[in-house]
Amino acid sequence: MSIKSKPILVLDQDDVIVDTYGKMAQIILRDFDTDFSLEDFYVRAFNDLLTAEHKERIYQELHKPGFFADIPAKEGAVEAVKLLTAKYDVYVATAAMEFPNSFREKYDWLQKNLPFVPYQNLIFCGHKSILRADVIVDDMPRNFAGQESARCLLFNAPHNYAETRYERVNNWFEILEKL
Ligand SMILES: [Mg+2]
Repeated sequence: MSIKSKPILVLDQDDVIVDTYGKMAQIILRDFDTDFSLEDFYVRAFNDLLTAEHKERIYQELHKPGFFADIPAKEGAVEAVKLLTAKYDVYVATAAMEFPNSFREKYDWLQKNLPFVPYQNLIFCGHKSILRADVIVDDMPRNFAGQESARCLLFNAPHNYAETRYERVNNWFEILEKL
């Protein structure tokens, strides 16, 4: 049991609270020489559509200082997280080890935009299987490993369209309905 009496809700940051995929798509369309449209990237994940060279280039973008500092929140995310703090002990857990430059930027973003989530509830981690959630929301099915006793909500994203094992949510309004 949690020290607090409320159930533990663990939220992912990228592509759950903020629209990281959308920011990457905008950079590709603006800076890369491709014939794709934004719509194409929501039919199939750009990772399946780009050349190896372009994939490497967008991966490099994630390592650039500032990338994670100004990613826009998903529609309704900030308001929904605030509402959910009444019912849940809300944590944000972000698998940030691959992009060490992102720590400070992600932390600052969370402090600024989700001031109602205390810093003690922010987790920068590698494998999320170490966490013990009652409910976990993530866009990456691999982050549900070890969460067999949790309710796992898969946030819809082009890179998880084929996944069928988990309860899917399309947006924050659906999350509020379910939780
Ligand atoms: Mg994510």
